[in-house]
Amino acid sequence: MSRRFRAAAALCIALLVLSGTALWPGTARATEGITVESSTVSYSFAQEVTFELQAASGADITSVHLSFRATGEAQTKVRPVAISSAPRVSAVYRADMRYDPLPPFATVMFWWEIEDAAGNRLTTPPQQFKYMDNRFRWEQLSDPVRKEVTVYWIEGHGDLSFGQAALDVVMLGLDRINAELRAPLPEVVEVYVYDSEHNLNAALILSGRGWIGAQARPELGVIAVAIPFEEGYALRMKRDIPHELTHLLVYQAVTPEGYEYVPEWLDEGLATANELVPRTEYASMLEDARKNGYLLPLENLCVPFPPDPTTALLSYAQSGSVVQFIRREYGAVGIRNLLAAYRDGAGCRAGVAEALKISFNQLEAAWRASLEPKAPWRAMIEQAGVWLGLWLLSILVAVPMLGGRRPARPGR
Ligand SMILES: [Zn+2]
Repeated sequence: MSRRFRAAAALCIALLVLSGTALWPGTARATEGITVESSTVSYSFAQEVTFELQAASGADITSVHLSFRATGEAQTKVRPVAISSAPRVSAVYRADMRYDPLPPFATVMFWWEIEDAAGNRLTTPPQQFKYMDNRFRWEQLSDPVRKEVTVYWIEGHGDLSFGQAALDVVMLGLDRINAELRAPLPEVVEVYVYDSEHNLNAALILSGRGWIGAQARPELGVIAVAIPFEEGYALRMKRDIPHELTHLLVYQAVTPEGYEYVPEWLDEGLATANELVPRTEYASMLEDARKNGYLLPLENLCVPFPPDPTTALLSYAQSGSVVQFIRREYGAVGIRNLLAAYRDGAGCRAGVAEALKISFNQLEAAWRASLEPKAPWRAMIEQAGVWLGLWLLSILVAVPMLGGRRPARPGR
């Protein structure tokens, strides 16, 4: 995997130029004496978000609170903002993204609570801003028909063909994945193509999953991948983009309430099995683990994979293999039944019994058996199946012909 580092100085300039801003909508508003003159927000991605308020009142303003919440988050953060009591105040709240991060690419809503010494209280109407990675300038390309599907890439790190190649993979991926899952499509699909894992990880480090080199935020319809603009980018796109898109569609298939019940082996297994260019190392890792007896128990893959890269990669390889086994034995209906069972809150083991009518242990045993090399005579028969069939057919045809030539028995 390629790692290219950008000059820190260039990033700092981008920070200053591109800091996002949301302004107070319209003119100042007054409620029982309190007037808001301005309310703004600006940010440097992954570092700091600065909220600023100017307010005035006939009496001293005594308290200011800021509330904010990102799309997809249940918790609203409420923060008291230090001010000196006065009829006119400036309040500034700086949210440190390194310690108290907002989810990247989320829309963030915020509002103020202001009180004065006369007992007046004002809650401002909510404002919102999109928390983009404004360390970079982004190029973008939307599908002309499905305008809700947009690909973004960093200015100078890809041309229009690069963006179009990514968009083509997104469109193909959505269709192929959904032929099996039949999920309602997300309202928006946004794909951010970073130029390097270093820059992507800086954006995703907050999530703790950056090491895999890509991430999906299904609740936002956003995926982020690291694909350098260099030879072989099309293959990387075909591998990484369908993987992350699968997470979006699995989320859509089970509705938000059900996503937490979908076991990791199914979610990551589908994503891995949907990579249009599979990772070659998975097959050999799987074969080594089988031969040497260290395949992971399937139950271990019900929960998020361990951070240790070797075990995590084996977890992906096994999960992809289990999903492919289920596809072969039960078809797309089996996959959809599994998702439906988990959507309705089934546990990891119970979901298998409910959807596939076999126990979790039986599924695991059957899958493990499918990995065993076949006896040589069986493999030969399978390989020679067509020829063997033709040979048997020729005998069946030849026997009656021979019989026809047999001299008629006396008396017949
Ligand atoms: Zn994944």
